[in-house]
Amino acid sequence: MTSGKEGSKKKTYSKRIARLRKLIVGAVIASCLIPTCICVILAIKCDRLSTAYAQSQADLEWYRGRFGTEMEILAGSDSGDALASLGSSAFEEPVYEEDFESDMAIVDLSGAQNPEDIEGVRYVYLTFDDGPSSSTNDILDILAEYDVKATFFVCGKPDARYTDVYKRIVDEGHTLGMHSYSHKYSTLYSSVDAFSEDFEQLRLFLVNTTGVWSKYYRFPGGSSNDVSKVPMTDFVSVLDDADVTFFDWNVSAGDDRAGATKETIYNNIVSNVPRFKHCVVLLHDAADKKSTVEALPEIIEAILAMDDTVIVPITDDTLPVQHIKY
Ligand code: ZN
Repeated sequence: MTSGKEGSKKKTYSKRIARLRKLIVGAVIASCLIPTCICVILAIKCDRLSTAYAQSQADLEWYRGRFGTEMEILAGSDSGDALASLGSSAFEEPVYEEDFESDMAIVDLSGAQNPEDIEGVRYVYLTFDDGPSSSTNDILDILAEYDVKATFFVCGKPDARYTDVYKRIVDEGHTLGMHSYSHKYSTLYSSVDAFSEDFEQLRLFLVNTTGVWSKYYRFPGGSSNDVSKVPMTDFVSVLDDADVTFFDWNVSAGDDRAGATKETIYNNIVSNVPRFKHCVVLLHDAADKKSTVEALPEIIEAILAMDDTVIVPITDDTLPVQHIKY
C-alpha cells in the first residue's frame, strides 16, 4: 500500500514538474516574443514619423526659399510696408487683403449665372493653392469623407514623395489647376518669356506626372497683384494662347494671414459664401497651414447645410471669377 501511495505521489510530482516546465518554457518564449513585437511596432511607427517630419521640413524649406525672394520684391512695391506688417505667412496672395473690396466692386458675381447653373443653386468651388504639401493627403482624406470634389492649384515639386500625391488629386476626381512651377514672383513676373517658360515647365511636369493637361491657372498673388511690373494682361495672353483659363477668387479663407486660426478661417468662409451665388473660395495647402485642415470638416458641413448649395470642382463650364478685365 505504501509503495502504491509513493508511486502515485511520484506521478503527481512528475506531472507538476512537467506542467511547471511547460509554464517556464512558455514564459521564456513570451518574454522573448513580446519585446520583439513591441520593438518592431515601435520601429515602424518611428520610421513613419521621421518620414512625415522630413516631408514637413522639406515643405517649410520650400516656402522659406520663396518667402525671402518675394519679400525683397514686395519691399520695392507700393504695398511693401503693409505687406511687411502681415508677417512671415503673408508671402502668398499678398495684395488680397488691401484690394479685396475694390476687386469685388469691379467683379461682382453675386448674381452671375454659372453656365452649368440650375436656377437657384449656389455653386461653391473650394480651391487650394501652393500644394502639394505634407497637408495634401489630410485634405484629400477629408474631401473623400464628405464626398466633395475640389480644385488644387499646384506648383512644381519634382520630389518623388509628391508623385503619388499629384496622382491622388487626379485619381479621386479633383481638378488639377496650375499655380506656377516656381512660385517665385521675382522671376515669374519679370518678363513674358520668363512667365511662358515657367508655365510650360509646370504644364509638362503635370502631364508627365499625372497624364492630365491642366487647363486652369491661378496667378500667385492673383491677377490683381501689385508685384508684377509687366501688365498682367500680357501673361493672360500667354494662357489664352494655350487655351488655359485663369481663376481668382471672391471668398478667401484668410489662412495666409499671420495668426489665422481655425475659427477665423471658418468665419471668413462661412460668413461670406451666402453673399454670392457663385463662390470661388481661396484656401491654402501648405505644411504650415494646419489650421486650414482643422477647419475644413466644419466648413464643408456648414456650406452643405446652406439651402440649395453644392460644392463642385472647377470644370470647363465654370464661370471664372477674375479680378482684372481682359
Ligand atoms: Zn500661392
